[in-house]
Amino acid sequence: YPTEAVDIAIIGAGPSGSIAASLLHAQGKKVLVLEKQHFPRFSIGESLLPCCMQVIDEANMLEAVNQAGFQFKNGAAFRHQDKYTSFDFTDKFTQGPGTTFQVERANFDKLLADEAVSQGVEIRYGHTVESIDLSAEPSLSVSNGKGQTQTINAKFVLDASGFGRVLPRLLDLEKPSTLPTRSAVFNHIHDNISDPNFDRNKILISVHPDNQDIWYWLIPFSDGRCSVGVVGEPEQLSSLSGYASNGFSDEIGNSDLDKILKTMINQEPGLRALLADAELINESGLLKGYSANVKTLATDKFALLGNAGEFLDPVFSSGVTIAMQSASMAAKTVIRQLDGERVDWQQDYAEPLMKGVDTFRTYVEAWYDYSFQEAIFFDKPDPKIKQMICSILAGYAWDDNNPFVSESKRRLNMVVELCRS
Ligand code: FAD
Repeated sequence: YPTEAVDIAIIGAGPSGSIAASLLHAQGKKVLVLEKQHFPRFSIGESLLPCCMQVIDEANMLEAVNQAGFQFKNGAAFRHQDKYTSFDFTDKFTQGPGTTFQVERANFDKLLADEAVSQGVEIRYGHTVESIDLSAEPSLSVSNGKGQTQTINAKFVLDASGFGRVLPRLLDLEKPSTLPTRSAVFNHIHDNISDPNFDRNKILISVHPDNQDIWYWLIPFSDGRCSVGVVGEPEQLSSLSGYASNGFSDEIGNSDLDKILKTMINQEPGLRALLADAELINESGLLKGYSANVKTLATDKFALLGNAGEFLDPVFSSGVTIAMQSASMAAKTVIRQLDGERVDWQQDYAEPLMKGVDTFRTYVEAWYDYSFQEAIFFDKPDPKIKQMICSILAGYAWDDNNPFVSESKRRLNMVVELCRS
């Protein structure tokens, strides 16, 4: 296995990796994607936001995504006790796509990766990045799972390894998230929903009746199945479901997770009724402590994309959108650098990316101090304000023309005050 040299090595072929690879290849750069797993592979994160359709289009993958038969999505619905409200993403302040899809990520991620390959990108599956040397140009040590290791030299490295967080771990960039540790227990179901009023075109976020920290997602797919999950602090979830009072042990088995998921679903009357005939398809999964942060997002040798950088919280389905936006922004910045321009990675990449992440942060924090929940369930919303908030829920968190982006905290606080008065 001789040493190879490429312009850009990309770690991971999830949405951020495939999109970045496509955009860089289209500009004539030699790109190599190294992916640890073989596709299709399971990933969590199945509800997209319309804003990401712009990036999919930029990567010339829109037609393939539109034709794949994924579940159409035009908004988000929220329920708490007897309150129900919904956002129609086509009725928003910011210009741009107002609809998107709910996707099984195994198929969606494979589709994007296959599109990148058909455009000419090389993806090596079953190849795990083990270490990096940054003493000169970046040099990656890659194992092919058959006991062989190869060195890949690159002018630049993009870390698109998601929760693998390869460079944050190898380069000691990890920084604790400011958000508390939360867990998600989830599964796919044959939903057997008979309620004619259930809107399959929207993600449904339900709030636990007695504990507003705990919430559920229900994401319909196009074939009568749904993704369902419950999110909360591990101690709350384990004690409310009768498993234990101190969180989830490392030995927790899938049958316990199935019971926890079912018990938690049955505690929310709306979901209990909706999913009365549902059947679990897989063994339930558990993700613990997924919120993460880093000390730095990029230098002149590498940049972190998507979840390899900061991950906030799943409540507004912002993960794939942030991953794709980061891919688009990083690809443009890498091209400038490789073409000989001077680039300031903090100013040209990290700060613009963080603008959107920080907008989402305002809303995530306000979700968990319940003030945003108060605002969305307010029964007489101002239509213009609703459109501006709707833009953010549709993923347009970088649109400075939207006052709820440029002054996200102040504006949101004003709305909450208005609702209270
Ligand atoms: P990923 O899609 O995770 O891809 C990373 C790839 O890197 C993987 O294929 C992995 O195999 C590979 N890799 C890892 N380590 C290595 C290595 N050493 N060498 C080579 N390859 C490697 N987002 C949404 O948009 N909508 C949602 O509804 C949503 N729900 C969520 C629910 C929960 C409970 C959680 C925790 C997250 C959710 N997210 C959601 C977030 C979403 O899962 C991520 O933001 C998204 O998958 C990030 O994409 P990515 O391209 O950064 O990484």
